[in-house]
Amino acid sequence: MQQNKIGIAKFLIYVRIGMHVLWKYRKHLSIKFITAAARLLAAFSDNKVVKLANGTYKLHIYLPAYPTRAFFKAIEDKLISKPPKPVTVVLSVTKACPYRCKHCYQRFDKNEDMSSEKVLETVKKFSEAGVSFLNIEGGDAFLKFNLLCKIMDSLDDSMEVWINTTGTNITKKKLATLKEKGVCGIMVSVHGSSAEFHDDFVGVKGAFELAKKTLVLCNEVGLGSAINTVLTYEQIQGNVLDEIMLLAKDCNCDFVQLIHPKRAGEWLKNKTLNEKDAEIRRYVSKAHKQYNALQDFSALPAQAQEEHEDKFGCTCGGIDRFYVGANGEVQPCEFLNISFGNVNEEPFEIIFARMREAFKVPCIEWMCEVKASKIYEFMQKHSIEKTPIPYEYTKELVKNWVGTPTKIYQKLKIYQRDAGPDQD
Ligand code: SF4
Repeated sequence: MQQNKIGIAKFLIYVRIGMHVLWKYRKHLSIKFITAAARLLAAFSDNKVVKLANGTYKLHIYLPAYPTRAFFKAIEDKLISKPPKPVTVVLSVTKACPYRCKHCYQRFDKNEDMSSEKVLETVKKFSEAGVSFLNIEGGDAFLKFNLLCKIMDSLDDSMEVWINTTGTNITKKKLATLKEKGVCGIMVSVHGSSAEFHDDFVGVKGAFELAKKTLVLCNEVGLGSAINTVLTYEQIQGNVLDEIMLLAKDCNCDFVQLIHPKRAGEWLKNKTLNEKDAEIRRYVSKAHKQYNALQDFSALPAQAQEEHEDKFGCTCGGIDRFYVGANGEVQPCEFLNISFGNVNEEPFEIIFARMREAFKVPCIEWMCEVKASKIYEFMQKHSIEKTPIPYEYTKELVKNWVGTPTKIYQKLKIYQRDAGPDQD
């Protein structure tokens, strides 16, 4: 059940969370700690607070819900841990998928899926690395329903889990089982406001109806729900977001996550994709403000908003987030088709440390945007046909990738360029 908090109700939740954080970490209390905690929480405050059916509160889709153990783990990742730790990983459990989405960032990922044992081992290592938000996807993750159950059986409550789906291979019983095993929510892809557009975009007739049905089922079994939507400039011009917000309202959906069109996978070669970027960002900023102030609509988290230079910027490379593909390749982000190593060949922690070394400081420049042409040209030059680019090439490619440090982390005094990421 979607219960959004805005205005004074939202303010009171923030006060409650702030007090709880200060009390819980009273051993660390100092002006510096209080200022950092206030800055961190304030960074989410332009989003609507969503009360999930399980009674917990989401300040943002990728921040675990308050007052869960995963929420406090995320707070500790940034305010207490030295070095600070990542919050989110996106994990693909299979490349297999009956859909052919036009923007698929894994379109050229070719190798075999990891074994179930390797997936379970890697998920355990995510938790040890600090991850508190596990976002599982495919391909079609529901093709590996038994593995999804095994993952959930292997976890304690230190990670909040959401699963991405197109709606295919879903049944109410499967959703109820996952809810029972501790899954918090389901993210459903909807890339247009009409069956005609969405079905064409994903290459499967009936996909739009299936997605809607999945959202309704999530609501029926008490799972959190989100629409994931990638909207291009042309769709934004056609007011498609407004129609999707109405659809989400009808389905009692908790979030509509607006994903920026990124040059990765199938769209890596699309040189004109970001030509209207400034207009898209202006529109997103306006829509974000508008919808997050309206009680009756779903919360609207938007990548372009949270990755704005005045917010968190680009947090790839294990700063806040990273990606592990179905074949075990560890990438800085799902939208950056470069690998720092494969968990089938090396321990995850070694690969992760190597990646962190390459992305020491979060920057305002979006790596997926400013480096897309370089990645594409590099692949052409070296005749690389499958993604992600293997580490032997990645290390050459990422040499000297530096940008402008994001202000919030400089103010939190973590991930400092001069002092290094491990310093206080
Ligand atoms: S590379 Fe950076 S800006 Fe791009 S999607 Fe990933 S985290 Fe966001």
